[in-house]
Amino acid sequence: MSDAHAGELRVLAREVVACDRCPRLRRWRERVGEEKRRAFATESYWSRPVPGFGDPQARILLVGLAPGAHGANRTGRLFTGDRSGDFLFASLHRVGLASQATSTSRDDGLVLRGVYVTAAARCAPPANRPTPAELARCRPFLLRELEVLSPRVAVALGGIAWSALLAALAETGEVVPRPRPRFAHGAELALGGLVLLGAYHPSQQNTFTRRLVPAMLDEVLRRAIAIAGSRDPAATLAPCDRSTSEATPSPVRRPR
Ligand code: SF4
Repeated sequence: MSDAHAGELRVLAREVVACDRCPRLRRWRERVGEEKRRAFATESYWSRPVPGFGDPQARILLVGLAPGAHGANRTGRLFTGDRSGDFLFASLHRVGLASQATSTSRDDGLVLRGVYVTAAARCAPPANRPTPAELARCRPFLLRELEVLSPRVAVALGGIAWSALLAALAETGEVVPRPRPRFAHGAELALGGLVLLGAYHPSQQNTFTRRLVPAMLDEVLRRAIAIAGSRDPAATLAPCDRSTSEATPSPVRRPR
């Protein structure tokens, strides 16, 4: 089963990387890669759509907004190479879902267990704001990931990811309440066989202002682990080797 999932996800990743549906985003991601940030002037930017990555048997789907201009758009892996990723992967490592606390390049040895990381839009957008039309064009990729992985939990990092997931689930035929449930940090919504959790996006805007602190993200991720593991705790959520980690997961508490 895992081989089949891995194969389907590899096919999907190739389709994502070759996607050219959003001309505005193509121009932007390529321009960012040509102009570069001074600190990365000697690097070759990825400058293409960035596919999801992680455990093909994941029961937790983690959905961000879009690749960072000088992070994933540079390195070619979501949340890799910028401050948002530093914050996110440190948290994933603390709760046992990532083999290491850092994510610096596609070949840095990072392994995810039980979690698959993706985004509402797979191209870096100007001002971190994909348009509704761009999000709609990218939604089929999220739908495919939902179909292949059939996750038990989806963690939406921010309101745009939350809305993207609700829209995708509605397209699968799931009955999504109207008006649509609002995003909040710690929000929890059961839809069919899936539980949707909300967490603030680990953007610098949120982390520098301490709107989001590490313990808050850890708590949501531990809640996701508890839900995902409730069907068969031993199957996919064996924690990564955290021999370099100082933290051990605390008892799960329901996010407020
Ligand atoms: S945002 Fe999505 S749909 Fe648009 S070009 Fe990028 S990968 Fe394709």
